[in-house]
Amino acid sequence: MKRNCLALVLTVGFAVLPGACSRFSCTLLAQIDPRTALIERGAWSALRAGQAHAAAEAFREAIAADPKNARLHLGAGMAASLERRDGDAKDALERALALDAKLIEARALLGQIQRRMGDITGAIRTYDTLLTMTPDDREAKATLDRWQREAELHDRMQQAIGSHFTVSFEGPAEARVASEALDVLDRAYWRIGQLLGTYPTEPVRVVLYTGEQFRDITRSPEWAAAAYDGIIRVPMRGALEKPEELDRVLSHEFTHALVRSLASRGVPTWLNEGLATALETGDLAWAEKRMGLTTGRVSLGALQSGFGRLTGDQAQIAYAASALAVWRLLQQAGGFAIANLLRDLGEGIDFETAFLHRIQQSFADFQAAP
Ligand SMILES: [Zn+2]
Repeated sequence: MKRNCLALVLTVGFAVLPGACSRFSCTLLAQIDPRTALIERGAWSALRAGQAHAAAEAFREAIAADPKNARLHLGAGMAASLERRDGDAKDALERALALDAKLIEARALLGQIQRRMGDITGAIRTYDTLLTMTPDDREAKATLDRWQREAELHDRMQQAIGSHFTVSFEGPAEARVASEALDVLDRAYWRIGQLLGTYPTEPVRVVLYTGEQFRDITRSPEWAAAAYDGIIRVPMRGALEKPEELDRVLSHEFTHALVRSLASRGVPTWLNEGLATALETGDLAWAEKRMGLTTGRVSLGALQSGFGRLTGDQAQIAYAASALAVWRLLQQAGGFAIANLLRDLGEGIDFETAFLHRIQQSFADFQAAP
């Protein structure tokens, strides 16, 4: 069975969203002017409906009228997090905590954002403080334990450093794979970079794990062969024996890193995974075959968000459909157009508009074509 990758997406737990009539909001509503109260209510509703941009705008307006209100900064942080503006989210959450250090939701989300930005030390510090306030929160404790295991493991790892990548690995037994990985990554860098007309400017971090460490740290489904969350994380199981598998997996993950360098947000999963899968080896006979066995059409609209919840079989179909769609896009519009589409999405332009402009065809027409 072909094994796949999982580009990890952090979602905000909506359980932490305060209801419009929580004790907090009602107290605050009594203190601020009715117009701002109305804007705030609209902002939380937009956030609950997943309309991150509208929520961000509304929180910004409410903060202008009531800048000392910690919950407004929390809301701004949540909206920014949903829009994947991680730097803005961090700033907003830190402001919320400066105004109210007991705002647990702000601290919990801040830790997640720090982790997502690669600041594992900061994330651990934030969750340490969080747990002094909520010692019974078992999920937060499990998260903190996992991050500590990750930090300790990374501390004892060695690094192989190339021009565009750093590869971390644990012991002398993995040194050879690390050096092979650097060679493979370097080839992927030039091949895929040239195809899309763009190269990452920052060195890309890669960590090689044992199978067990990989499951523990990424919590990926069983079918995942690697993961990308700002760092390329690869379990070494199997890759040692099969060089072509190392090549396939690392080319796939490098494409995710390249996509992230163009757009840190707004990229539908089918486009991100489809591009990574289509550019692995360029051979999509397996995908044609897999789709030949599938009855009915798979709508790309249904493949907008993470594949992590899918079963192994569903994931295969999702990856195959995404790869074939992106392959068609590459044939029709070329790699440069796709790179420009990604840049537009990263700048916050909505998908339909960006697609029409860069691909010169509406997304609906593209989908409808055979
Ligand atoms: Zn992937």
